Parts: sequence; structure tokens; C-alpha cells
Amino acid sequence: MLTGIHFLLSYKCDLECDHCFVYSGPQAAGTFTLHQLKKIFNELDKIGTIEWVYFEGGEPFLFYPLMCEGIKIARDMGFKTGIVTNAYWATSQEDAELWLKPLRDLGLSDVSISDDAFHYEDKEASPAKHALTAAIKLGMPCGPICIDKPTAEEGVDKERVKGKPVIRGGAMFRGRAVEKLIESLPRRPWQEFTECPYEDLRNPKRVHLDAYGNIHICQGLSMGNMWDTPLSEIVKHYDADSHPICEPLVNGGPARLVREYNVPHEDEYVDACHLCYLTRRALIDRFPQYLAPRAIYGL
Ligand code: SF4
Repeated sequence: MLTGIHFLLSYKCDLECDHCFVYSGPQAAGTFTLHQLKKIFNELDKIGTIEWVYFEGGEPFLFYPLMCEGIKIARDMGFKTGIVTNAYWATSQEDAELWLKPLRDLGLSDVSISDDAFHYEDKEASPAKHALTAAIKLGMPCGPICIDKPTAEEGVDKERVKGKPVIRGGAMFRGRAVEKLIESLPRRPWQEFTECPYEDLRNPKRVHLDAYGNIHICQGLSMGNMWDTPLSEIVKHYDADSHPICEPLVNGGPARLVREYNVPHEDEYVDACHLCYLTRRALIDRFPQYLAPRAIYGL
């Protein structure tokens, strides 16, 4: 049962973090129009099971008026609302309150703020700290998102690791993280990755929507395009066993995806997502409707 909708309001971001799994950055373009947002909210009503609506990106505060209007519509429809931001706008605590007060007045239920070394070197006086302090002062439910540079657990053989993943830090090895963060990490044979460890692909509880119409079950793995077929119809008819990418993933993980389409591969990968992401990227021209947008694959 789908209960959460996350708008990727844009892939545009003022920062370009190494661990970003949607390849956001200043060069990324595009956002939703208000008309498109309203059209989607109409579809959420038809789905009938949605409880939460989040606005994230990219950096959603780059589109502040649109974000506020989306939160207002969501609130008026009875949804709980949240945002995910890097808080670039919080130049001081006092200024942060200026940005947050209108959201508090709209009844925002969650403010998640990226607060780690990928975003800010000075952790004590960072915009994230200003924003968190301001949100607490305003009585807004809030919390930090902290991701560290990935490292192997102490004592792990860097050449060959068996069993469960042993990478610390919380980064997901998809998107730019695959390009920037994996070099010195231990790897395991590709045949070991026989399940998706993070997403419930058969029965997703939340999806991410982007302005190109993609309905992401995982970043870059789409149910279909909501500008071609109404969102409520795609959600209603979604069946992992009929989806050309999800079917192998739910029935044997990334290793099965490799075998299903006979995709050329290396001998070892850091984790299941690393293998999954690169295998999907190799299949992008074959399944453009389901593996999109290309920019998430660095293409
Ligand atoms: S990248 Fe693949 S294995 Fe990792 S969470 Fe997404 S669908 Fe699952």
C-alpha cells in the first residue's frame, strides 16, 4: 500500500555532493509547474492511501514559492508534509527563522536537514546548525540527516569480504557515489548479491516523482511515466512480476538482473546497489521507459 509521495521538486542544487545518488548539482535544470503539481494532487486523491507528501530534490528551497504552495495544497487535502533540505538558505539563525516561519504556519510535520561533512566542513557554525536551531525554537519537528564518508569496518580484508555488507557511513552506492566514493572499499563476488536490501519492490510504500514524469521506486528505477499515463492508473496496475527490471530484482536480486539480460560485468562489487546501479545503467537504452532519467545515471 503506497502511503508516501516524495516530490523531487528539481534535480537542481546549489551543491554537488560526492554521495548524491540522483546526481544533483547547479547544472541540473527543470522543475514542476504549479499546474502539474495540482494535477498530481488530483491523482493522489484517486490513489486514496497516501498519508505523507515530501518535498525534496535537488534542493527544494531553490523553488520556495512552489514548495510552499505544494505544502499548502497537501495540508488542505489532509496529508502530513515534510521537506528535505541542505539549509543553504540559513545564513544565520535569525534569517533561518524567516524561511521557516511560513512553513511552520502551514503545519509542516517534518524538517529533515542534511548536516554532515559532505555538505559543510564547519559542523559547529554551519547553515544546517542554524536551521536546526531555528526549527527547534519555532517548535517544528525536525532532525538532521548525517552521512559519513564510507569506510570499511576495522579488520576487514579489503580484497575479499564475505557475508553481510560491512561498509560504515550510510552512503548509498548509486548515482554520483558510484563515481566518487567506492575506490578503496572492499568488494564481494557479484554472484552474492541475490536480493535488494533496501527497497520493497513488490509492494513499495513510497515513490519519488520527478518533473520528467518518472515514478521512482528506487532512484532511476521507474514504474512508468505519469505524463503518459495517469499516476493513479500506473500505481493501481503496478505489478513487480510484470516489470522488466523489478521482476529479476525481486526474484534473485541484482545478480539475477545480470543473468536475465546477460549484462557484461566485473567480478566484484562493493554492495548490491553498486551492482544493481551499473547493471541498470548498461540496460538504459533497452528500457528507457523504466530506467530514467538518464542524468541519474550520469549520462
Ligand atoms: S539500487 Fe537496486 S539493490 Fe539497491 S535499493 Fe535500489 S533496487 Fe535495491
